[in-house]
Amino acid sequence: MNSCSKCGNQQIIIRKKHSGQSLCQECFIESINEKVLKDTRKYKLLEKGDKVLVALSGGKDSVVALHILNSLREKNIIDMVAVTIDEGIKGYREEGIEIAATNAKSLGIEHRVMSFKEYFGRTLDEMMGQDGTGHGDTRRQGDTEPRHACTYCGVFRRWILNRVAQEEGATKIATGHNLDDETQSILMNYLEGNINNLIRIGPKSESRDERFTVKIKPLREIPEKEIGLYAIAADLNVHLAGCPYAGESFRREIGGFIKELSRDHPTIMYSTLRGFDKIKPILKKELTPKGNTGECRRCGEPAAGELCKACSFLEGWE
Ligand code: SF4
Ligand code: ZN
Repeated sequence: MNSCSKCGNQQIIIRKKHSGQSLCQECFIESINEKVLKDTRKYKLLEKGDKVLVALSGGKDSVVALHILNSLREKNIIDMVAVTIDEGIKGYREEGIEIAATNAKSLGIEHRVMSFKEYFGRTLDEMMGQDGTGHGDTRRQGDTEPRHACTYCGVFRRWILNRVAQEEGATKIATGHNLDDETQSILMNYLEGNINNLIRIGPKSESRDERFTVKIKPLREIPEKEIGLYAIAADLNVHLAGCPYAGESFRREIGGFIKELSRDHPTIMYSTLRGFDKIKPILKKELTPKGNTGECRRCGEPAAGELCKACSFLEGWE
């Protein structure tokens, strides 16, 4: 009979295939807390006095990140503010906002909700023509296929987070990216030959541009499955519904492929990440990442060309 590798308790809730370790509920929660805080120190994600903006969707990853980082706030090491982006996805986002607000409130953390509608004049549903107007042609100059909702969603969300971080005087933006997300990004960018994006992947964004708040990923080495289990074990209130736009995407295909491989090769995600982290400095020495050196003429945010990505999308609608 299996018992907890740490305390001997007979009631184990997880047997980690990659390490052979079995853990009871209490020791599992403790082990995740320790691992996240250890990685935070190892990669120097936070410094004393940081004000951390947590991008809180209400989903399990961001809720777990909020709760674990809150232990540093309770020790007065960091200050925190939680921000939820309301993309305007009817029938989906409303519940996420409510759950995000409940979590922030239960910890006494200030919570702000910022919407696409308020910043960009339209919801994601309206952008995608899902509001019944049929105005959502997502093709832009030179596009043959309509663009996927996630392309817009990601660009606009990053724009708002960066803007709110500046307004709040936040020194870091923490997101809930997990090990699965990170290995997917590595494989996707490699398979697409997108080396410029590939070398940006890491626990912490490395832009030297002060106009961009540093982004950190404290859950980067925790598998998605373990984050889900943590949320259940710690009895956290999380938003479980899936986004109606998620659909089929290259990321999803890659995610399915990695999951499939992980069944027989349980260490595959860890080794992909480790291998990548080793070759990244060598790649970076050879390639200088293209930066956003200019300023968007429309919104003033950093931009590679005349317009930032968000504004180039917006101009297409005007
Ligand atoms: Fe946005 Fe795509 Fe995520 Fe839905 S799945 S919230 S559209 S990025
Ligand atoms: Zn702009």
